[in-house]
Amino acid sequence: MEDIYSDLLMEKVDLADYKPLPEGSSQYPLEYIETNSIIKLKENEDTIYVGCCDPSNIALLENLRNFHKKRIVFYEIDRNELSGFLGEKLSNLNNRDKKVWTTAAEKLLLDKLANDAPIINLVNSTIIEAIRLGASDIHIECFSSEMVIRYRLDGYLHTVNSLEKENFPAVATRIKIMSNLNIMERRLPQDGRITVHLGDDMVDMRVSIVPIANGESIVLRLFNKKNAPLSLGQLGLSEDNLKLLKKMSGFPNGLVLLTGPTGSGKTTSLNAILQHIKSDTQKIITIEDPIEYVIDGVNQIQTNERIGLTFDSILRRVLRQDPNIIMVGEIRDYQTAELSIRSSLTGHLVFSTLHTKDSLSVITRLKNMGVEPYLISAVLRGSVAQRLVRIICEGCRKKVKPSKNEKELLSRYKLPAGPLFKGEGCKLCRNTGYRGRIGLFEMFMTDNEVEKMIAEGRREAEIRSYLSSNGMKPIIFDGLNKALQGITTISEVERAVSA
Ligand SMILES: [Zn+2]
Repeated sequence: MEDIYSDLLMEKVDLADYKPLPEGSSQYPLEYIETNSIIKLKENEDTIYVGCCDPSNIALLENLRNFHKKRIVFYEIDRNELSGFLGEKLSNLNNRDKKVWTTAAEKLLLDKLANDAPIINLVNSTIIEAIRLGASDIHIECFSSEMVIRYRLDGYLHTVNSLEKENFPAVATRIKIMSNLNIMERRLPQDGRITVHLGDDMVDMRVSIVPIANGESIVLRLFNKKNAPLSLGQLGLSEDNLKLLKKMSGFPNGLVLLTGPTGSGKTTSLNAILQHIKSDTQKIITIEDPIEYVIDGVNQIQTNERIGLTFDSILRRVLRQDPNIIMVGEIRDYQTAELSIRSSLTGHLVFSTLHTKDSLSVITRLKNMGVEPYLISAVLRGSVAQRLVRIICEGCRKKVKPSKNEKELLSRYKLPAGPLFKGEGCKLCRNTGYRGRIGLFEMFMTDNEVEKMIAEGRREAEIRSYLSSNGMKPIIFDGLNKALQGITTISEVERAVSA
């Protein structure tokens, strides 16, 4: 596990060897250097060399990695040497005492504000209400006149509270304290985590804080551990698609990919597949970021980039664990793509996700990542594209006549001209007309002909037309059918499909 500790084993250097150090705008602010015991030693076109006194402060190193676009090399430096350097700097500025005093006083004040009962109550009730409503994210922002709290429900943001903007620093500090972040840091983005226990629920929250013009933007993403994973039957698959997906998941080896933008339900579907195929006779290992659902009988591993546990580094080790089925949360780079393909070639069934617009573009995406077409053709078993649409609220669903455009759209896909449905808005759906979401799907399984076409490097359009003539339906077709069944509206389908 040597690479996990690479940051901890950083080389020790003498600060004096790097003098003159970068200054002014090419150096970190003095306050930041002082608080975090960190300093920029040298910077060139593609690399920043940073000296730090505490190599075990992984959160800080990770923050810097996120902040800088360049490669960062960390060196350990001596704390006394840094203090000496700061002493020189500050006495040169002739305001050393004042500076230290202000920082300390401000920290005390923030601490006091953030631990005030009304602020604690506000933050707690904001989180509890979000969990109760099933929100996926909480957004807390400070605008010029007020501070706004919004929840993302079924994919849409709703304002739930607006308060005087004077409350913002205390709220932001409270959240930083809860997620173990530096409360004095307001210039660099910070990432943290909070775990909340609420009765039987355990909710993990990923916290992201980014400086904006009026202060900071805070986003909490909620992962409720208690949410049971959906079954395959609950995803909204048509009968044909359900059959096809079961078939694809039954291969002894190969690669099955799920595609779609962020928030299109790929992870939920992957978990439903695993739930469906798990059995006593097979070992299933997943590598996830983060683990969204806990599935009994499946070995789930959480990535942790700050200690070097990336998708590819875990995958390398997981292969020694003799798994039958591996789920890799996401293929983001060549290393992960190459390893996933090698695993599929050596007798494992691998599931993963890719950020592509439709089911067929996985071929081009893998090629663009540097994977040879003959390898894609050898391992790819199938691909599923997915989007989410909102479900019409059952409390206020009404039949409606299709518009001229809707009729045209339906007839283009040789579907009946209605009737269609919509939600009029009621208490149950907070007057939105929708409640809950369901998936739209497009998928294909490879056959000898498709494998040949991929290996020959044929264009996506050619492969698509072959598959269409063999029964593959585009994602919009699935959506229009769901609109005719009264599950969703055509405007939802059009919005989802164009995403
Ligand atoms: Zn309603």
